[in-house]
Amino acid sequence: MKYIYGPVPSRRLGKSLGISPIPDKTCNYTCIYCQLGRTTQYTNSREMFFPVEEIIDEVKCALNQEKDIDFITIVGEGEPLLYEGLGALISEVKELTSTPIAIITNGALLSRDDVRKEILEADVVLPTLDAYSEEMFRKINRPFKDIKLVNVIEGFREFRKIFKNQIWLEIMLIKDMNDDVKSLKEIRKLIDQIKVDRVYINVPIRPPAESWVEIPPSNRLIVAQEILKAESIAHFEELLVDSVDRESPPFNQILNILKRHPLRNEQVYTLFPSMSKKEIDSLLDDMKSEDLIEPIEYNNKTFWEFKRSKL
Ligand code: SF4
Repeated sequence: MKYIYGPVPSRRLGKSLGISPIPDKTCNYTCIYCQLGRTTQYTNSREMFFPVEEIIDEVKCALNQEKDIDFITIVGEGEPLLYEGLGALISEVKELTSTPIAIITNGALLSRDDVRKEILEADVVLPTLDAYSEEMFRKINRPFKDIKLVNVIEGFREFRKIFKNQIWLEIMLIKDMNDDVKSLKEIRKLIDQIKVDRVYINVPIRPPAESWVEIPPSNRLIVAQEILKAESIAHFEELLVDSVDRESPPFNQILNILKRHPLRNEQVYTLFPSMSKKEIDSLLDDMKSEDLIEPIEYNNKTFWEFKRSKL
């Protein structure tokens, strides 16, 4: 499958079937914590990257194979609101199934009236808000030049007025960037203006785009939870292991997951219970020799990461 992955387990979305409607690492931000590395297709122009019908054909196929799905999640290796066919895609998926649709987005394009209207049929929208000032926004998310935080927030507010379903906001907390009490209080003020249904805090559990990014200490996370009135998903998602397409060779299965996020050795082992650790190590070594993946040390752990220069 080119556009569909999973289902993957998610704390917020249960058993989630992913749809990726955009080319790899196409985004209007290049966040310092991005687990896909620095943005290579840095753009704020919406495009019809792929035909909607091609994606829908794969969705039909996946729905025939997978019956118990909690959410169909539009996400991808970048920013899904950049896909010009998004509105049509949502409508056509709605015709196929009653499974709820979630969209994971940075939310920048919610500043546009047409984009807000296009996603009204979604059941849950999960945008990101990591900063309260333009300066902090530029330091953490490094948005495309014409994107301003003030317009993004205004877009969130306008979207809230017309969107009747759920908005679950995520805040990525980074040590010494946005985890101090003042920043947390200012972010909370913005959340109060947007009026979201839920707030989640997360931390960069996987190797980030910039190696100097660090996870806040646990005492600051406790304070953050209180101030932001948020639930923490920090450290949780990484414990969950993706399900894979058992039909394809282990080589492809590993590569497909690593294109979406890095994995630790132990996680790769759990994916293939019928293979010995020695066999899996040898497979990983082969992939490394082919220059497809590389080991990265982060937070005292070794991760395998996809080398995006090979795309
Ligand atoms: S974290 Fe999301 S919004 Fe930020 S650069 Fe990566 S894909 Fe884009």
